[in-house]
Amino acid sequence: MRVLRRTWFTIDTDDVRHVPSNQGHPTRSKPDETLPMISEQFRSGMKGLTSWLHGHEHPVTMFVIADQCESEEFVQMMNDLCSTFGERITIGCHGLHHRSWSAWPEDCEAFAQDLGASVSILKQHFPEHFKPWFRAPAGYVASWMIPVLVEQGFTVDSSINPSWLVNRKYGKGESWRTVNSTVNATQLVERAWKTRFSLPTCGPAQHIMGLRWNAKGAWKRLAKPLNVEEINLVEDSTIELDTIYWHVLDYARKDGTWSPPIKGL
Ligand SMILES: [Zn+2]
Repeated sequence: MRVLRRTWFTIDTDDVRHVPSNQGHPTRSKPDETLPMISEQFRSGMKGLTSWLHGHEHPVTMFVIADQCESEEFVQMMNDLCSTFGERITIGCHGLHHRSWSAWPEDCEAFAQDLGASVSILKQHFPEHFKPWFRAPAGYVASWMIPVLVEQGFTVDSSINPSWLVNRKYGKGESWRTVNSTVNATQLVERAWKTRFSLPTCGPAQHIMGLRWNAKGAWKRLAKPLNVEEINLVEDSTIELDTIYWHVLDYARKDGTWSPPIKGL
């Protein structure tokens, strides 16, 4: 194994209507049909993301929910990012409608259809920027999903939160370790999320009381971020990476002044 430690920046594009309390989860979702296609928070988040990207030169991978492309405004915003920042923007797949697949009974056929439709939408809109990289909606992946990802041509999965704290969220008889060993038996490269003291540091952990002190501490001590010419190292299983993620919506926090607390950017 080459000793090259880098950090990979990833951002999920979930809008307000995609949160599990609104859609995609068998027990937690209570859909509110009045939520807009694009929220004001999302618009503010995209502005914050744009100015953050102007402040450094590192690449980011955005995991996009394909149904967001039903909005011309969304596609326009993404294309603006792509034309302004060029090769620094990679687009991965975050599902078609952000369905929490691992929380539902196993359904390989429907999952395969969801992935196939997502890939064709994302490729059609962002042909220069799309890569077959996947992040499971709602943050949990099940072992049965792994062979489907491989069949559908995915090369990278970044859905595992390797923390004891979330093991109860996995299906019966599963944990992040069982999913991880399923991935390791395939060609798929797993990019698990950064933890510190075995606790989550990504996404909501940056904001949840009781976790955020540790999460922020972790992000102050990250390895050097990948450079734009190194982005394909994400697909190289011999390279160790610290993978961190946050949301476009996070940039709307603190009246639009939030940015990820990464040291040295
Ligand atoms: Zn999501």
